[in-house]
Amino acid sequence: MNLFSHNIKMLAKLALKRSFWFHKAMNDIEKFKNLSLDEQRVRQLVLLEKTLHAASKTKYYSSVFASLPNFDNPVEWLKTIPYLDKDTLRKNPGDFVVDSLFSVSAQTSGTTGTPLKLRRDIPSIAREQASFFSWFYSAGWKSDNEMIELRGNMVVPADRSEPPYGIRDCIFKKNILSSYHLSDKTIPWYIEKIKKSNANFISAYPSSAFVIADFMRRNNIAPLKIKAVFLASETIFQHTKDLIEKFIGPVWGHYGNAERNAWMTTCSAGRYHEDVSYGFTEYIPLGDNTYEIVATGFTNKAMPLLRYRTGDIAVDPFGRQHRCECGNNGPGCRKIIGRIDDLFITSDGRKIGRLDHVFKNVENIIAAQIIQYNTERAEIKIVKNHSYSEKDEKLVLENFMLRVGGNVKVNFNYVDNIPRTNNGKFRSVISLNP
Ligand SMILES: [Zn+2]
Repeated sequence: MNLFSHNIKMLAKLALKRSFWFHKAMNDIEKFKNLSLDEQRVRQLVLLEKTLHAASKTKYYSSVFASLPNFDNPVEWLKTIPYLDKDTLRKNPGDFVVDSLFSVSAQTSGTTGTPLKLRRDIPSIAREQASFFSWFYSAGWKSDNEMIELRGNMVVPADRSEPPYGIRDCIFKKNILSSYHLSDKTIPWYIEKIKKSNANFISAYPSSAFVIADFMRRNNIAPLKIKAVFLASETIFQHTKDLIEKFIGPVWGHYGNAERNAWMTTCSAGRYHEDVSYGFTEYIPLGDNTYEIVATGFTNKAMPLLRYRTGDIAVDPFGRQHRCECGNNGPGCRKIIGRIDDLFITSDGRKIGRLDHVFKNVENIIAAQIIQYNTERAEIKIVKNHSYSEKDEKLVLENFMLRVGGNVKVNFNYVDNIPRTNNGKFRSVISLNP
């Protein structure tokens, strides 16, 4: 995408993301923060009840509710509802949509390698943006402050070997840098760009920020003095966090999902705290102090998903009575293990994270995985459905080449299932690169 078309697109997004709904959501978030813990709990139950009523208008939940007793207490009501797994949602996404509400389509490749078709209403899109703003504000960012973004945006062609490796977003005042061009040869340009932009804030994939911090460590480069590094969309490992904090700036972590049913951010003690005005989270024990995050989101009335099994793992969850080391109460958890993917390394030394986007807009895929054998050879494993065709394969390959570029030979391997790792996590990208 070139500079001009990017900014035109952003102008359209601006209209949506700074709409009446955005300002209302900002207001709601601020008001909620000022409530007492008890008032917040009451508000959460009201929002949960509204979500349950919204869900009753969908085909799936109207039939589920028909066989359930009625409860006055929304938590008791919720607990009678069976967990929802991704497979059920993937097979019949339309059954979860409230047709009477206007909504737009969205897609995710998901943490389980399973692409999902989603619908979102306008208030939920605005709310998501407002939640990010509120999070950025809490770290000292102001809306006219510069931001560097390194979040997998495809802003320059994959085969570009000369700078610039990013574009200027004039609408949202950001320098959007490519996550697909990070190599030992190019990272000095990124570091210079960050320094020259006078940005005090970076919003990045953990993998992208890590690749830069690790380069700085190996080359004894003086640390940057960024005020806050906002990390989202991937698991933040302790060693990743430590390295980024040493070389770039303090890490602020976020956990959320495309299905829009959970929102957690890290505190000064590094623990995750739930935004209980965003959703209602439950934790299913998996043993060894680990729990699957099961979430009911309040923000998207067009596709209410109840007790949704996210496939993400929380370590040491704590309740709302528990006072965290940061001084605030729960609920929340100590750590979250979400997406765990290897970096894909190209022959020109680029290190690419979150390559699962390759499957994002492809229909007819049940699950998918990329395996890298070496810098010249990769395998794409796909569990396809009966409608999958050559057109889908072509699109996957095109998406892959747009990000990786160059001379990688890809072979497609159609399989019946893709095994998980020993701890039950799915890996979208596995590198066997020697
Ligand atoms: Zn805390």
